[in-house]
Amino acid sequence: VADSRRRWTLEEVRGRIEEQVIPEPNSGCLLWCGGLRQPRPGRSLIYGMIRLRGKMTSVHRVAYEIAHGPVPDGQQVLHGCDVPLCVNPAHLFLGTNADNIADKVAKDRARKRLTRDKADTIRTLVASGVSQHEISRRYGVAQSTISRIMSGERRPAGLPARQE
Ligand SMILES: [Zn+2]
Repeated sequence: VADSRRRWTLEEVRGRIEEQVIPEPNSGCLLWCGGLRQPRPGRSLIYGMIRLRGKMTSVHRVAYEIAHGPVPDGQQVLHGCDVPLCVNPAHLFLGTNADNIADKVAKDRARKRLTRDKADTIRTLVASGVSQHEISRRYGVAQSTISRIMSGERRPAGLPARQE
């Protein structure tokens, strides 16, 4: 493809990004619907990637650069909205790798708290006589998960989605 050989300028890339985003009206996120790939092998997160100046670059990083100028050395472009595919410059901020890790740890903690709260709610519902089948349906969790919650078994991460 001839495209991949071209050295796109920032201005050209801006137009290509604008053509390939979908606005999410509630959050204001601009969701990238173009090419995706892992920025580095072995990384679990997948980001939108685009070719800039002959080099594959994360789209959110490029979007930040277009809006706010170059990203200083040692800094990363992080998502305030926690949506990896969002390229809205208003949702992006600079931070170090340590900031990124601290941010992820805090969000992970919040997610675990949510899971614990959900487990508490399920225990309360079962105790008040709601059938496990009904809870399973309402919360989208497998009945085996509810049994585990009731037997007090802890899960390290979030509740698994119900398998249909
Ligand atoms: Zn966003």
